[in-house]
Amino acid sequence: MFDKAKNIKKLEDKVWLSSPTMHGDELKYMTEAYETNWMSTVGENINKVEEEVAKIAGCDYAVGLASGTSTLHLAIKLAGVKRGERVFCSSMTFSASANPICYEGAIPVFIDSEYETWNMDPKALEKAFEIYPETKYVMLVHLYGTPAKMDEIVEICNKNNAILIEDAAESFGATYKGKQTGTFGSYNAISFNGNKIITGSAGGMLLTNSKEAADKARKWSTQSRENAPWYQHEEVGYNYRMSNVIAGVVRGQLPYLYDHINQKKEIYNRYKEGLKDLPIKMNPFDEDIMEPNYWLSCMIIDEEAMSKEVRDDLDYLYRPEKGKTSPHEILDTLASINAEGRPIWKPMHKQPIFRNHDFINRYGKANALTNAYIEGGLVDERDKMPEDICSDIFKRGLCLPSDNKMTEEEQEIIIEAIRACFE
Ligand SMILES: *Cc1c(COP(=O)(O)O)cnc(C)c1O
Repeated sequence: MFDKAKNIKKLEDKVWLSSPTMHGDELKYMTEAYETNWMSTVGENINKVEEEVAKIAGCDYAVGLASGTSTLHLAIKLAGVKRGERVFCSSMTFSASANPICYEGAIPVFIDSEYETWNMDPKALEKAFEIYPETKYVMLVHLYGTPAKMDEIVEICNKNNAILIEDAAESFGATYKGKQTGTFGSYNAISFNGNKIITGSAGGMLLTNSKEAADKARKWSTQSRENAPWYQHEEVGYNYRMSNVIAGVVRGQLPYLYDHINQKKEIYNRYKEGLKDLPIKMNPFDEDIMEPNYWLSCMIIDEEAMSKEVRDDLDYLYRPEKGKTSPHEILDTLASINAEGRPIWKPMHKQPIFRNHDFINRYGKANALTNAYIEGGLVDERDKMPEDICSDIFKRGLCLPSDNKMTEEEQEIIIEAIRACFE
């Protein structure tokens, strides 16, 4: 096997996909929690971050919770999702959008993406409501920090009396027509996981305009205790509340949210400039109506510049080819110079755990099994089958090293390595 990047020098320090970036104040607020002994799920840090996040997002309430995933779980419960009911869910997302639907015994029905933002295709969502008109819930992700087509999605939800839940775990700070993601739906989640735009090391928040929902989330997340002298319970409870120590980290990070976004934006633009004459596109968005938080820079290789590459469930193979490349060739090349990229999030309807679930694109049901038959060459219906957009993005796309501590020099080397893959 030849190595296209053999002449490119290795990075001295590893450049990560996206790692925590601390500023100093985090330690101050954690220490404050320690010295005042507010080391549990009550305290000044929690109060301050809830207040501050609600202000930044422009919503009435923000409730500090243990993680983005637990937040999505409570959002599903707040929406009233019941066992056996269907929830329309973005297919191209991280599994934490779909898992909380399963926690409640409900059934995720996966919806295809569009090419303009890589998020849920409004036309596919419309189709889904034609097929399952009784469905009352939509779980929508803003992937990689790029807002989805909110005007269309909100209108379709309203028309069908469906409750919208936004998984804004990756998109805190991103706006659509000036409005923050995480404030369009009824119950929405952001995450402070270690690799997100800002971090608490862990943690998440529920964003909502409903006081009732915020109160319920606070109660449920602290074991659903009733107001009584003893442990009195009328509802199922959870241990989902944010710790005041974690909140201290978030509190120290919040003033740097827009610094991080600006750094990530510069990274995105440098990739865009450095790769502009290659047969690729960066993860797209509509500049006139949305401002992403640029959490991850991604690229997609033009169809005609794709060399041969195959994946099974756990591994991949590709054949290097002159003038062409593939996602794993680029990822291996990046790894060889000490930089971390990642494949595009594999669509949920392609995951073994969800393989028997419905998948709907703008033409109707296009379940994975049918697609697997086509890909395995068992049937050749490519022309007749409607296209599965999120699988195509997974096939041709990848996430680039997007750490905001990456220097311009490091990024130049990374760009050079990517360019070498196309030689
Ligand atoms: C990170 C992430 C989550 C989960 O957040 P945690 O805080 O890690 O639980 C959910 N959805 C998406 C899209 C994410 O990227």
